Amino acid sequence: MTAPQARPDLDGPLSPHVRRHLAGVAGYRPALQPGPRAIKLNANEGAYPPGPGVAQALAGLEAAVLQRYPDPLATGFREAAARLHGVDPDQIMATNGGDELLRLTFATFVDPGRTVGLIEPSYGVYATLAGLHGARTCPIALRNDWSLPEDTADRWNDVGAQLAILTNPHAPSGLLTSAATIERMARRFRGVLLVDEAYVDFVDPALKHDLVPLTAQLPNLLLLRSLSKGYSLAGLRAGYAIGPKSLIAPMSGKTRDSYNLDVIAQILGKAALEDQQYAQRLARHVRTERRHLAERLERIGFDVPASQANFVHALRQDGLSALPLLRGLQDQGIHVRWFDHPRCQSGLRISIGTSEETEILLATLRDLMA
Ligand SMILES: *Cc1c(COP(=O)(O)O)cnc(C)c1O
Repeated sequence: MTAPQARPDLDGPLSPHVRRHLAGVAGYRPALQPGPRAIKLNANEGAYPPGPGVAQALAGLEAAVLQRYPDPLATGFREAAARLHGVDPDQIMATNGGDELLRLTFATFVDPGRTVGLIEPSYGVYATLAGLHGARTCPIALRNDWSLPEDTADRWNDVGAQLAILTNPHAPSGLLTSAATIERMARRFRGVLLVDEAYVDFVDPALKHDLVPLTAQLPNLLLLRSLSKGYSLAGLRAGYAIGPKSLIAPMSGKTRDSYNLDVIAQILGKAALEDQQYAQRLARHVRTERRHLAERLERIGFDVPASQANFVHALRQDGLSALPLLRGLQDQGIHVRWFDHPRCQSGLRISIGTSEETEILLATLRDLMA
């Protein structure tokens, strides 16, 4: 049995010097980092290493690039993202992972004591950030099919939410909400709508899903992008925002650290964005493999909502807790994710790995289910 990861920073006693409201904030508990021999399908990282564009840029780095501060505006990185999306570089802000952008949206658009609209279940970092910021949350429960209730924006408006965050494709279900629905919500909602698109690189291109054009029409729509998933660069910490200049400028000019993206992340991130051929190969693998995985999970006793992300959420058809399965897999060195939420207790969130990893996972799960 793998020992639970010791986290004295999360579990230790709280010094009396710590601000009072932090006593009520549970730190975000990220996925376990097992040893190198484990099968790691618990944090939706890429199944394969970063591509040749990144490898080449990395090989070309010299220690001397670290002597000076990085470009505070990450110009090369932003221009590469702007070219990719067909927008102006001023509509892009580079961030230290998508998570930094989440923090900046709170710091820029939410007055302490005011409210942030969420959906639930969703990414736990949102609620943690709200707690740190001293903001209230208004979580709207998803419907049984994981879709958004029709009146979501109205309910956020009723509590005066200044910011709302939508994960799309959703985690942990993988469900994609259409651009038309999001446009309708953004037009109704009176605050800033941040659409967290950490998993959008895995959406089937046949759906032609693209929210970027909407950011030119809607003054309150911001998109979050991450290089962690779609470009297999979780270790680099690079992401970016796409949005109207009126929302990008105050974050870039006021709340962001001047040098938020280090020089290596700027160079490698730009190389990754410019190697779309490899990114598309990674995405194709995910789309093929997630279909296989879902079909075979259904055959051994799971319901699997249709995922457009690089993971599937496998829910036991018998409705029993999936916690024993999580533990059983862990004993075999296979790591997936389980969430302690009423909608998720019978579920395992499984990242799309290599085909070999899928085979081992399925064989082990089948034995555990028998
Ligand atoms: C992974 C993820 C992010 C951002 O991750 P970074 O590694 O900080 O770029 C944001 N939102 C969701 C829902 C994620 O899963």
